[in-house]
Amino acid sequence: AISLGIVGLPNVGKSTLFNALTKNDVLAANYPFATIEPNTGVVGLPDERLDKLAEIHGSQKIIPAPVTFVDIAGLVRGASKGQGRGNAFLANIRDAAAICQVVRAFSDPNVVHVDGKVSPADDIETINTELILADLQTLEKALPRLEKEAKIRKDRAAVVEAAKKAIDLLNTGVTLYAGGARAGIEIVELRELHLLTTKPFLYVFNVDEAELGNADFLDELRQLVAPAEAVFMDAKVESELIDLPAEEARELLESIGQPEPGLDQLIRVGFRTLGLQTYLTAGPKEARAWTVPVGATAPEAAGVIHTDFQRGFIKAEIVSYEDLVAAGSMAAAKAAGRVRLEGKDYVMQDGDVVEFRFNV
Ligand code: GDP
Repeated sequence: AISLGIVGLPNVGKSTLFNALTKNDVLAANYPFATIEPNTGVVGLPDERLDKLAEIHGSQKIIPAPVTFVDIAGLVRGASKGQGRGNAFLANIRDAAAICQVVRAFSDPNVVHVDGKVSPADDIETINTELILADLQTLEKALPRLEKEAKIRKDRAAVVEAAKKAIDLLNTGVTLYAGGARAGIEIVELRELHLLTTKPFLYVFNVDEAELGNADFLDELRQLVAPAEAVFMDAKVESELIDLPAEEARELLESIGQPEPGLDQLIRVGFRTLGLQTYLTAGPKEARAWTVPVGATAPEAAGVIHTDFQRGFIKAEIVSYEDLVAAGSMAAAKAAGRVRLEGKDYVMQDGDVVEFRFNV
């Protein structure tokens, strides 16, 4: 599955966050055949639209889109030089499509910081440096082989050029995701090397509950990582929230001035960082969100439900979620001319409510 890898220095609250995330195991019932490794958590993408759809269609069940998080242990200062468990984190992190760094910004003196002081900027730099060093090692190890290949095969010249430019960029301390395009690097040429810093990043700042309402403080942190996205939460509060009955959880959130759990925000931002969106289906059985990459066509979207749907695709009957809700029912939306018949070139939009027509 397309996943988000959670990284961070020791003692920043990674496990606290990960445990809170995975306690939210509503998906175990919906995805019983998913093999879930101990370091993997599959959670539901919060989506209020599904509740509304279920109401309109009288659906018995709601199935949100799954989002996979993987806890990536072992990324510590010096990991690329063999510190801690050395490069053990590499195998896990290679499979992640985006990297979610947990950064400590809470002050608790009882929790030891590995470097003796709480400094989000330094921690971000430390992790960045390790990832950059790991990529430099990969590139420098591969380069002689790539150059040899390029002597025999003309089409390998582009890989060599991209690799050399990537080494130059990384040596300036900039990741390939942040600076690759500007430096004119053909990232696709480097795909075979499974580099780490080509992945999009997002940041979770683990802050004191009392700071969640401190806009200046949060802005300072946000600016450390912009244009990457930042999510703020108190991981300890999040882990408490998850154990509370809904009503008490709501009260606790209200008391700290938060509109929703930080975890919900994280799942949503993470999903977006992966370049994904959802379309929706609804009937008496279930209201369900399906995941497609941004830019997917209608037949590709059909294929997510079943490969037969894609192969036999004829048309998709589509109404936007907003139009459906405004009309109040599928029949009313049809009567109002809001339901479109789209063909195989249609590019799916987030929140399309869909029924596929296909040959079997
Ligand atoms: P990890 O090493 O990054 O996985 O960190 P843990 O999740 O194990 O947390 C390390 C310690 O920090 C534990 O004692 C947690 O209870 C504590 N901790 C985690 N998050 C917070 C937080 O938001 N506030 C405070 N005060 N302590 C936290």
